[in-house]
Amino acid sequence: MQDIQWYPGHMTKTKRMLLTQMGLIDVVIELLDARVPLASRNPDIDTLAKDKKRVLVLNKSDLANEAITTRWEAYFRQLGFFTLPVNAKDNDKKKGGTAKLTALLKEIMRPKSEKQKQRGRINAPIRAMIVGIPNVGKSTFINQLAGRAGTITADRPGVTRGRQWIKVGSDFDLMDTPGVLWPKFDDQQVGLRLACTGAISDNVLDKITLATHLLTMLTGIDPIIIEKRYRVRTESNVTGEAALHLLTEIGAARGFKIRGGEIDIERAAVILLDEFRGGKLGRISLEWPEDGND
Ligand code: GDP
Repeated sequence: MQDIQWYPGHMTKTKRMLLTQMGLIDVVIELLDARVPLASRNPDIDTLAKDKKRVLVLNKSDLANEAITTRWEAYFRQLGFFTLPVNAKDNDKKKGGTAKLTALLKEIMRPKSEKQKQRGRINAPIRAMIVGIPNVGKSTFINQLAGRAGTITADRPGVTRGRQWIKVGSDFDLMDTPGVLWPKFDDQQVGLRLACTGAISDNVLDKITLATHLLTMLTGIDPIIIEKRYRVRTESNVTGEAALHLLTEIGAARGFKIRGGEIDIERAAVILLDEFRGGKLGRISLEWPEDGND
């Protein structure tokens, strides 16, 4: 896989900006992709947000396997995080994250609120900031919390100046601009998983290579995922040539042909990736706790 050269150059500046902003806030809400909660974690956030209350929002939970998301929650809670599975696109106030997040933040901040009350200061709002890697759903979630469409934001690392606060109910102020963090660059598996979910641009890797890796992951989870959707037969854990062959069969099953009758594998790759990302293959998590996924 090619290196993403331009991105790490922004890191130092981003870190500095984030640290400055951190001083203003009580709670750091870190968005993860529920399908790949480890791959979508930023490696430095634990240092950046040290001493802050931490909520891990498992976003895109509508696309992830529900049972596995529950296991991830247990896993992260054991490590001392508060967790919340969310579908940032669900605008139903109860089912969406807003009500649950507000309740959770109140719970988290209760000791501080009690102290403030004793000092005669009532109702100082909880100040929170959303952070996460690109495409994890930060803007969508902020819009859901803000209760209106079309607020946000620049998709650049760091936080832009001139920040404003969005009032979420009476007790909770949210910084309107999320902290854009970088993913782990040095781990090929992490890169592949992020690329499969669409978090990393498709240009980083050619689509056919990526699609064959996705086929390896999906047939490793359960061959039925592929068999049911594309009406082809497959072994589990297909890799390399076998995965490419399977991709060709998928193309054939869909009738994707280029001139001369050859199967259009590129088109099969695009369709597979799109359908996976759109949840058409079912609710599938690419990482699960305990086994480290290696
Ligand atoms: P950001 O870069 O972190 O601000 O990510 P965006 O908010 O722009 O979201 C990236 C993409 O993910 C968009 O196409 C969103 O519609 C989609 N998205 C965000 N949250 C969810 C979610 O909970 N479920 C699903 N299915 N899609 C989501």
